[in-house]
Amino acid sequence: MNVALARWASDPARSRGRRIAQPPAPPRNEHQRDRDRIVHSTAFRRLVYKTQVFVNHEGDLFRTRLTHSLEVAQLGRSMARTLALNEDLVEAVALAHDLGHTPFGHAGQDALHECMRDFGGFEHNLQSLRVVDELEARYPAFDGLNLCFETREGILKHCSRRNAERLLRAEPGGPAARFLCGGQPSLEAQLVNLADEMAYNSHDIDDGVRSGLITEQHLAEVALYARLRDAARADHPGLGGRRLVFEVLRRMLALMVDDLVATTAAALATSAPADADAVRALPPQVAFSKGLRAEVDALKRFLFGRLYRHPQVVQTTGLARRVVAELFEAYRAAPTEMPADFVRAADRERAVADYIAGMTDRFALREHQRLTGQRLFGE
Ligand code: MG
Repeated sequence: MNVALARWASDPARSRGRRIAQPPAPPRNEHQRDRDRIVHSTAFRRLVYKTQVFVNHEGDLFRTRLTHSLEVAQLGRSMARTLALNEDLVEAVALAHDLGHTPFGHAGQDALHECMRDFGGFEHNLQSLRVVDELEARYPAFDGLNLCFETREGILKHCSRRNAERLLRAEPGGPAARFLCGGQPSLEAQLVNLADEMAYNSHDIDDGVRSGLITEQHLAEVALYARLRDAARADHPGLGGRRLVFEVLRRMLALMVDDLVATTAAALATSAPADADAVRALPPQVAFSKGLRAEVDALKRFLFGRLYRHPQVVQTTGLARRVVAELFEAYRAAPTEMPADFVRAADRERAVADYIAGMTDRFALREHQRLTGQRLFGE
């Protein structure tokens, strides 16, 4: 189905283009082409064995970075269609947004950042851009995937000032510019950002309940959850267990989608940007209403306290940090333990960080055991 795009949507025919110009590839437009490149990349396939909160060996049904990215793409596309934004660009950014994540979720990233403290640090958004700009090695004429500006802009969600200055020196006017000059990314990028938040708030509750670390009683502390659970029970007396959780989460996502679409449509009707570029000079346009924003923030605080800081999660992430830190030291001391491309790199620490960041959870554990002789996780 071909729906006319809003005048403020990103138009693939008016893309700022690729760093290396390439002829068009009809019938695909440039953003569909980016999506296809991302899906076929090596980094994308690795997402299946990378985790966020729970480590792979804890169970087969927990979200991985891959299923998370698919959920973000589903939510983002659905909202983009309703708002007449560019669904293809949303899909491309959503599928690529976590490509730079280390093994073991946030614990791995924090550990790698700590290891890289004296060598420029480690930022996962920047690493996602690095993956699509440099690290994928599959085309004869260039490194990376040579994606469009709009896709790269969406991938670089955050960036420190120091790194933005470095990126801008290499690419004046590139996607790092807004971190120095101000401004927002496209509406599609803003939308993926919130779809990401919607997806993890919802699936972390699901995974948290599945793991037994959070319970119905805990969830009753969250006003948004309690309200929707009461409504679900009123419609389905006697509903309980997993089906009740699923029903509440379904209602929660529907509520967030409807709220975000209505709030964003109203903001755009008021600001009426002339085109996609005019959006970049406006304050953020894609948002929840104030009321729902406060409820979502309360839910995030709940997840932080009850799940992300749960002693069992903290213990696992502590081990994960150790794996990353010890791998870093091992490769730094003996770079030839890495594949040839990484050994040859001029900046040894960055090459070690790139190599570790690309690992899946289980490959990192295997390498850790091979290099240190230790077995930190069961089995
Ligand atoms: Mg994400």
